[in-house]
Amino acid sequence: MTVIGLTGGIASGKSTVSAYLKEKGIPVFDADGAAWEVEKAGSPCLRELTDAFGEGILTPEGELDRKEMARRAFHDPGVLQQLNAIVHRAVEQKRDGFLAAHRQDPVVILDAPLLLECGWEKVTDTVWLVYLPEEEQIRRAMIRSGMTREEVTDRIRKQMSLEEKKKKAQVVLDNQGSLEALYRQVDRELARILP
Ligand code: ATP
Repeated sequence: MTVIGLTGGIASGKSTVSAYLKEKGIPVFDADGAAWEVEKAGSPCLRELTDAFGEGILTPEGELDRKEMARRAFHDPGVLQQLNAIVHRAVEQKRDGFLAAHRQDPVVILDAPLLLECGWEKVTDTVWLVYLPEEEQIRRAMIRSGMTREEVTDRIRKQMSLEEKKKKAQVVLDNQGSLEALYRQVDRELARILP
């Protein structure tokens, strides 16, 4: 089994590539989706969170009150660190379950915006980065979300830069051109793994 770590930056096109690979029938683990799931009512992860922070972080329905959790994490770096540690561990368990379940598949994808920030490259065979120059990242993010240039730039600054990620990736998928051009690169790279 070849494990491909798929990552990118804000609006670089990672979800576009991920959807394309899924369409081809390749199993994809969605790290962001998993992070939402592990915080669902009744999950062991949510129990760990209430053990750590109390029932005050729950909504009346027993779900995680994300606003309240974010408020506490914002005011206390210790809370933020503990929250991240609990959620990251739970997501990594899910990831490892996914990898075990797909042992027999020739190729699987770990789709994670923070793949490199979280050190997940160590469980991958190759890292694919969906790349855009920052100016185009800002342009596409503004079109997509209606955020201002300042808001987008501020979010980009909080992540590892795509230039830095580029140095750590084995494959760079350049998304400055058309979608077709992007898909052609994906097909070419896949053919190297699945001849
Ligand atoms: P984020 O992690 O910020 O959600 P992402 O890396 O997953 O972003 P996408 O959602 O795939 O990025 O793409 C960002 C936006 O750019 C979307 O609106 C998408 O339709 C558009 N886009 C992606 N690729 C291209 C392309 N080659 N040409 C024009 N627009 C594109």
